[in-house]
Amino acid sequence: MPAVLVVTGPSGAGKGTLIRKLVERVPGIEVTVSATTRELRRGEENGREYWFLTDDDFLARVARGEFLEHVEYVSGHRYGTLRSELERIAANGHVPLLELETEGALRVKHEVSGAVTIFISARVEELERRLRERATESTGEIGERIELARKQLEQAGEFDHVIENDDLERAVAELTALVRGLLGATATMPRR
Ligand code: 5GP
Repeated sequence: MPAVLVVTGPSGAGKGTLIRKLVERVPGIEVTVSATTRELRRGEENGREYWFLTDDDFLARVARGEFLEHVEYVSGHRYGTLRSELERIAANGHVPLLELETEGALRVKHEVSGAVTIFISARVEELERRLRERATESTGEIGERIELARKQLEQAGEFDHVIENDDLERAVAELTALVRGLLGATATMPRR
């Protein structure tokens, strides 16, 4: 199993934006495409943001052991990391980067040796504002995501690194420096 990078944190913390900027700046990392049973949002494409699966297809893949980890998130939507994604990225000689909610991230932290977990944090008022502004979910689902976000913020200390996303440029700089250091450290590790 290759070493993996995991970026986690509550919905609305800006994980997606930070990851896009990180990948532009640091070569050698590739983001896994997760599978999900939630509906496509406007502008999303199957196979790009996610593999959009039916519940039956998702569960059949769970039974076949195709997932490294999977969770049921708000509103009963399922999300999971396909092992095939890690194999595809490793075959390219790149380090896989997983964007996960906290439960999946903790599972990967404990089960994948060499995994490094990074928690993206933000103030709960800020998360609420971003989710309402994005307005991609119904009011009920936004409420559920905020409630979950409060609980997830309390888990920050369980991860290897925490980055506060109060100022985007500063957070990008911090994340970039951290990942450059991690990749550099891996590359120069003595062989046994
Ligand atoms: P969204 O519906 O906003 O795209 O994603 C909801 C949450 O699911 C986000 O916190 C995102 O990081 C997380 N997520 C996306 N893919 C996966 C996955 O494969 N596994 C897990 N555990 N969480 C995921």
